[in-house]
This record gives sequence, structure tokens and C-alpha cells, in this order.
Amino acid sequence: MNDRRHAFLQEMGLGPVWSRRATLPPSAAAVVDEVTQESEALTADFAAAGLSSISEAAAPVALRFEEATETGDDIARMDWEQLKAAVAPCTKCGLCRTRTQTVFGVGDQRAKWLFVGEGPGRNEDAQGLPFVGPAGKLLDNMLIAMGMKRGENTYIANIVKCRPTDANKRDRAPEPDEANACMPYLQRQIELIDPTVIVALGKTAALSLLQLDPATPVGKLRGTVHRYADRPLVVTYHPAYLLRTPGDKRKVWADLCLAMQTYDGAGK
Ligand code: SF4
Repeated sequence: MNDRRHAFLQEMGLGPVWSRRATLPPSAAAVVDEVTQESEALTADFAAAGLSSISEAAAPVALRFEEATETGDDIARMDWEQLKAAVAPCTKCGLCRTRTQTVFGVGDQRAKWLFVGEGPGRNEDAQGLPFVGPAGKLLDNMLIAMGMKRGENTYIANIVKCRPTDANKRDRAPEPDEANACMPYLQRQIELIDPTVIVALGKTAALSLLQLDPATPVGKLRGTVHRYADRPLVVTYHPAYLLRTPGDKRKVWADLCLAMQTYDGAGK
């Protein structure tokens, strides 16, 4: 069966009704026989589907493809289950080619606190959960220091849901086009969660959410309460950075104190 016919049958939900007789030596008669059977089988398949021509058959194939490529408006109307179902097979950017699985996010779907990182790393890609491994452990400790716990009134997500890697298969930050492609999913998560305070963990999260110039240093964004979709947003360093630069833990604690003051001030 040729690839095009196979694709048609799959898209139309029709099982194969003809199998190629392989291993015979090619001859003109065999080729003619094959083409004839192929044609007859396709005609029968189209008739079974209530179609009269190949062009008529192509229409539902095209329609299905469009349906699978949801727009930002489609995503903005999704509930949690629809959103998860859309993310899992997503191919909107090149990161789909190297992921093991998508990493959707984890936590209380009505949390008042939302923490946003940049993207899954090796451990997250393997487990399908955000912030596992040493950086995740540090984030958990930060939550404990704030009197909170992962999964309780907190939600943790990333700017991109697939692991970005470089040519040597090492973790890297997502490119702006990858972040832009994935952003509608996070936007919908934020609308569904409706958090009181958002904490952007690191440069990629801060710049993507605030739509700022990529050259903006995180240090310039700290110490200020920003706004994302009319919600307060506080910027701090990514836990992975803190593992490399433990001397900056004091700065992160100051940022988290600002976030807690903002939360208290919101009166929720
Ligand atoms: Fe889709 Fe986001 Fe993964 Fe890109 S990173 S393939 S947009 S889920």
C-alpha cells in the first residue's frame, strides 16, 4: 500500500482492504496488476466512505489537519482537560522533536501562588514533572521557607512544555520563537488558575511574561512588582542559577519577601 493511500485510509477511519503481494519478481504484468488493484481498492474505499473521488476524499483530511492545529483563540476557551489533551501531542515548535514527553505543570489548579520557570530539563523531561532534581529540591525548600508546600495553594509551570537542548543534548534556555509558540498554553493555565501572585523564576520566565527586550538583565527586574494580565508579578533568580551561585540566596529571599508582602497586600 502506498503512503498516500495509507494516509487517506487512516484519516477516514477505514482499515486496509487490500494487501500488496510482496516478493514476486517485478514485471510489467505485475505492475499493471498492482496498479489495477490499487485503483479498485481506492474506489471501493471511497464508495464505503460515501465519496466519489480522490479530491472529495482529500477534503476531510485537510479539515482534520486544521482541527488538530488549534489557534490561540481555541486554546483560550479550553478547560483543564482539553488543555492537557492539546499539549501532550503538540508540534507547534521544533522542541517536539527532541522531547521525551511534554511537561504540563503541577499543583493546585486554584492556587493563589504561581511559580513559572523556563522549561523542562533532563530530569523533568524524563519524569514529566516540572522542577524535579536538585533545582526542584531547592524550589521546594524556598516554598517551605515561605510557609508553603508544593501542591498546596501553589502551582508550578514553565514557559515551554518541552525540553530545549543544544547540539550536544545539554539543557538550554528556550529561544524566543519557542517561548512564543508555547505561550498560549501558559496564558490559559494562568487564566484558569487565577493566581493572586506570580513569581517568575529566572530571565526567560520574566522576559517572556513581561514581553521585554531579551537583553534585559534579571537584576534590573528584581525589587519591583510588575503586572502580568493585571496580576502582580515578582521576578527572582532561577533555582538552577542559585545552585551555581549560592551567594545570591539572600537576594532571592528578599524577592520572596516582596512577593509575600504583595500577596498580603492583595487581601486574598
Ligand atoms: Fe508545543 Fe510548547 Fe512543546 Fe513547542 S514547547 S512543541 S509549543 S508544547
